[in-house]
Amino acid sequence: MTFDVPTALPPSATRPSSFAAADVLCLDEKRVARTYAPLPVVAASASGAWVTDVDGRRHLDLLSAYSAMNFGHGNPRILAAASAQLHELTLVSRAFHHTRLGEFADALTGLVGKDLMVPMNTGAEAVETAIKAARKWAHEVKGVPEGEAEIVVASGNFHGRTTTIISFSDDPVARRGYGPFTPGFVTVPYGDVEALNAAVTDRTAAVLLEPVQGEAGVIIPPADYLPRVRALCTERDVLLVADEVQSGLARTGRTLACEHVGVEPDLIILGKALGGGVVPVSAVLGDADVLGLFRPGQHGSTFGGNALACAVGLEVVEILREGTFQERAARLGDHLRARLDVLVGHGVAAVRVIGLWAGIDIDEDLASGRDVCERLAERGILAKDTHGSTIRFSPPLVIEEDELDHAVGQLGEVLAELG
Ligand code: PLP
Repeated sequence: MTFDVPTALPPSATRPSSFAAADVLCLDEKRVARTYAPLPVVAASASGAWVTDVDGRRHLDLLSAYSAMNFGHGNPRILAAASAQLHELTLVSRAFHHTRLGEFADALTGLVGKDLMVPMNTGAEAVETAIKAARKWAHEVKGVPEGEAEIVVASGNFHGRTTTIISFSDDPVARRGYGPFTPGFVTVPYGDVEALNAAVTDRTAAVLLEPVQGEAGVIIPPADYLPRVRALCTERDVLLVADEVQSGLARTGRTLACEHVGVEPDLIILGKALGGGVVPVSAVLGDADVLGLFRPGQHGSTFGGNALACAVGLEVVEILREGTFQERAARLGDHLRARLDVLVGHGVAAVRVIGLWAGIDIDEDLASGRDVCERLAERGILAKDTHGSTIRFSPPLVIEEDELDHAVGQLGEVLAELG
């Protein structure tokens, strides 16, 4: 699917690019620190599920910026909301009130059924906010001695890149060279309730989990895992914090992935798609008994809750209230699962699908995930590997069934070529 860009908007999205691919690659190589190893595709514009490169070649987006682009590139409703706000007011900081923050907070808290919201920008900042909120609650309400609160996390987690967050990552590439690390985290195997139970002590403030582990390769826990974790947290007076930065906002076929198993976390972390693919918008949602503990000066962010972000976030909430993207992700996800299952045993070792989100384990003897993604990119399919031999498909939710078929067909051809 592609969108017609409204004529009232600046024409840059459709303007032919004057950049040559080789110049861009050269300049990136020379001037951008190498924290990423991008595939050699130079995007110039995009619409719906399609990205056009500097040479005018179209690529089907099967990553959607790690689910930040759930509602499609150039979604006209989101662009219109951003564009209108851009000309009114963008930022006054939280030193003053502005017209859009309360409205956005009211809509977002209503969407997920919580009392309060802390607005931030990136996912990692929102995770940091949830960690602070949980520790504060443990020290001030639960009675854990100051500075002794612990948070239990899962192996294979990905919650962002700050120093504290990588302190409880078990990915050596993300950690090496960055110590000393922040104490106060205990890691247990993902999906193992007994291990979690054994790790919880009187000092435990929270259990922090991704309801589906995204960067680990779309790892879907057993259906009874989150409900049992919820029961355990309630019984042991521990907060359940769900990081829905990647799984939330329609990706899995529900507004929140936790809804699949009827679990209500104490704190919900949102990001990525909340910014509509336009600006970074993240938030922590919770009830007054936890988030109500924050007092002025105890936490903040210059850009958090800015007017432009709020206008975009509000439009995202309006879109989600209609439910069409959730329904679409569920329906297209069933289709994708059926198509991918056919590849199992033909270069694919295993497939995990929830909503329009798939982790595809490539047969390790055949090729690395990177090799497969490079070959897919040559064929006009943009996908991303994770952890060696896994690739993920998480297209914009506006993608059509025949476009999904095309992507899976290309994957099949790449695997046949390698076999
Ligand atoms: N939490 C989860 C589950 C994520 O997948 C990510 C990013 O991939 C983050 C947090 C960090 O978000 P950001 O990159 O916006 O800081």
